[in-house]
Amino acid sequence: MPDYDIITVGGGLGGASIAKAMAERGAPVLIIEREAKFKDRVRGEWLAPWGVAEARDLGIYETLISDCGYHPTGWHTRLAGNSIGARDLATTTTSAVHPMTFFHPSAQEALIDVAEKAGAEVRTGVRVVAVQPGATQSVTLEGNGPSESLTARLVIGADGRGSMVRNWGGFESKEDSDQQWLAGILIENTAAPMDYSVAVFNPFASRIALMFPQGDGRARFYFGARSNEPGMSGDREVPRFIEESRKTGMPGEYFEGATPAGPLATFSGADSWVDHPYRDGVALIGDAAAQSDQTWGQGMALTLRDARILRDALVSNDEWDAAGHAYAEEHDRQFRDLHTAESWFTSIFMEPGPEADARRAKALPQVAMDQTRIPDIFFSGPRSAPVDEAARRRFFGEE
Ligand SMILES: Cc1cc2nc3c(=O)[nH]c(=O)nc-3n(C[C@H](O)[C@H](O)[C@H](O)COP(=O)(O)OP(=O)(O)OC[C@H]3O[C@@H](n4cnc5c(N)ncnc54)[C@H](O)[C@@H]3O)c2cc1C
Repeated sequence: MPDYDIITVGGGLGGASIAKAMAERGAPVLIIEREAKFKDRVRGEWLAPWGVAEARDLGIYETLISDCGYHPTGWHTRLAGNSIGARDLATTTTSAVHPMTFFHPSAQEALIDVAEKAGAEVRTGVRVVAVQPGATQSVTLEGNGPSESLTARLVIGADGRGSMVRNWGGFESKEDSDQQWLAGILIENTAAPMDYSVAVFNPFASRIALMFPQGDGRARFYFGARSNEPGMSGDREVPRFIEESRKTGMPGEYFEGATPAGPLATFSGADSWVDHPYRDGVALIGDAAAQSDQTWGQGMALTLRDARILRDALVSNDEWDAAGHAYAEEHDRQFRDLHTAESWFTSIFMEPGPEADARRAKALPQVAMDQTRIPDIFFSGPRSAPVDEAARRRFFGEE
């Protein structure tokens, strides 16, 4: 008999959500999380409407909204210096809910607590150093004492960017070329509006600036540029972050009198993923399965969708090997659509050069007049509408 039904390597959004979902159905579950206390690593803090719908399905919405969640009700887009209007995402997406923002470490705390309350055993401050796939998977961990090996029917790699479970499980990683980066910082005492998010695209300069309010004068700001430009990290670079955001079109008054409330850090936007994230009793979810370009803000929603799809597969089939494969097939379908749509967005909004400028000159005036030309996948989620040649032609203004 294995020690547990499930061991999750990592207790972030993905690990805690699947652990809670399976523990409350009576499965013995262990979460192993290396951090003793979560801190600001500059991660996602805007959960797309389709991710909020997944949070509801997983039964974690109430926890998030009561502990740390905030609902900005509007979405404002500025394109090449012009406002293309405001949007109420709750009434115009298939998910029919507002997006949610939160301080990421608070969401991690809240979810790991709720998983524990649902019956999962939680070990924090302990690091997994090896996973051995096989007839009964084993996980080796190291904390303060001697190393220990534990077995499980299913090991779930929810260990985020740079996942080691990918390697230990024998998965082959794939990666896009490094084209752009995103820097982020939490700001407090900002004069930015607290009731709507702001997305500023400056495609002819290959720049993007984003503001996601969290209430009480706090907001997460991001700025993105191409990878041939130097990224921004550390306190000394905060003035450059603010200046570049302002030059891109983020209103300068949002930063007047405001103060940083966390680190400034930059991350490559290159997607990195595995095809079919299940094999030999090891499943990967969240960033461990597919790390999507954070410029487009989809990682957390995809992580929650992974958790929900894996839960549904495991509860509907006692043969967990077959359930693992079913999860992996569905995950691949979802990620394929997101990955394709991301490449279209990069091509229109971020790619430099005369060919890209010509593409934009055709697409953007039509998009500005009719926003339904923009594929709604980033708000409504993969599988909400086809991501096919017809959708591409409409977005690129070719019909
Ligand atoms: C700058 C930036 C901005 C982003 N913005 C957005 C956004 O606006 N919206 C959005 O949806 N997404 C965004 N994302 C992506 C989002 O943050 C991730 O997709 C999401 O956090 C993935 O969750 P996860 O649970 O898979 O991984 P993580 O949140 O990284 O959790 C993994 C956990 O595993 C633990 N761990 C790792 N290795 C081990 C080990 N060996 N042993 C034990 N524990 C281990 C880690 O400590 C961590 O707690 C952004 C990402 C970045 C970098």
